Amino acid sequence: MKALLVGECRDGRLAGEVAELFGFAAVSGAEASLVLVGNPDGVPAFGGRLYFADAREYGEYNPDVHKRLVMQAVERECPDVVVFLQSSYGWDLAPRLAAAMNVAQVSGVTGIDDGGYAVDSCNGKMRRTVKPLTSSAVLTLQPGAFPAPAEQGVPELIRLDADRSSGIEFLGSSQPETGADLSRASAIVSAGRGVGSEKHVDLVRGLAEALGGEVGASRPVIDAGWLERSRQVGSSGQTVSPALYVACGISGSIQHLAGMKGAGYILAVNTDRDAPIGDVADVFVVADLVQFLPALTARLRVGQ
Ligand SMILES: Cc1cc2nc3c(=O)[nH]c(=O)nc-3n(C[C@H](O)[C@H](O)[C@H](O)COP(=O)(O)OP(=O)(O)OC[C@H]3O[C@@H](n4cnc5c(N)ncnc54)[C@H](O)[C@@H]3O)c2cc1C
Repeated sequence: MKALLVGECRDGRLAGEVAELFGFAAVSGAEASLVLVGNPDGVPAFGGRLYFADAREYGEYNPDVHKRLVMQAVERECPDVVVFLQSSYGWDLAPRLAAAMNVAQVSGVTGIDDGGYAVDSCNGKMRRTVKPLTSSAVLTLQPGAFPAPAEQGVPELIRLDADRSSGIEFLGSSQPETGADLSRASAIVSAGRGVGSEKHVDLVRGLAEALGGEVGASRPVIDAGWLERSRQVGSSGQTVSPALYVACGISGSIQHLAGMKGAGYILAVNTDRDAPIGDVADVFVVADLVQFLPALTARLRVGQ
């Protein structure tokens, strides 16, 4: 399989998640090349052909111009798949490219299954395999699904040159307003659906307070309105890397792990000893959080 990976540059820097595109290439065994509109001082350590255009000339984003540039690389490589990150850039450009190529587009790919692409359904509870009917396809990758491999070498640089005319002017991007900023917390205690009710969120707050940390949550807790949206951890919430992350009643979906796998030490409390969070936890306590959290909090308070 031949894969054309589409990198991204944000605020003059190569987006860190670009390494996940290399993870896709490693998992699929694809012969990969990369296309990037970016900063010449920030090209990735990718040991393949890099089709490059300077973002200072072509803009960090412009759907018309970037589509033209990526199409040039497509014409030269004739890839079986063109692979984007699932980001604002990927969400906007991948379907435009698929339409221009007249091929299938598959969003939120989490794995490769038997000639098809695994995607989540039913809010991550189920998984289905999508097999495109076209000979090639344009994909976006679910964040965190393809772990970044080790750095791979020095790219062979091929400069792209395209018409820069466009009816669209890209003015810039800004981060959304966030309430709680979990990115700097040294300890985060997160509530999952397993807390069962809003009143048990107080048990999570109590432990966070005793640890001098912040409260986080998985998406069902946010959707239930038990905590404010800014506290969501995961692929559609915040990405955090505290020294300590305590996951309370959280199963460990790909989407949640994508936001917290950078934590230094992970403690998970779960009644189900087979919950996938156990695969990433340093300590996995099989217990009912309603009993365990107050006991741990009381113990920590005695020591303070
Ligand atoms: C496009 C997309 C984006 C998403 N983005 C995010 C995101 O950013 N963040 C996110 O978190 N999710 C996200 N999700 C949802 C994700 O797929 C999962 O549905 C979600 O993470 C599950 O949350 P959970 O682990 O709290 O709940 P569940 O998966 O229902 O797990 C609850 C856990 O609690 C345990 N439990 C039950 N009772 C107790 C008890 N008394 N004591 C201890 N343990 C108990 C259970 O054994 C279970 O493991 C996204 C989904 C999609 C499709």
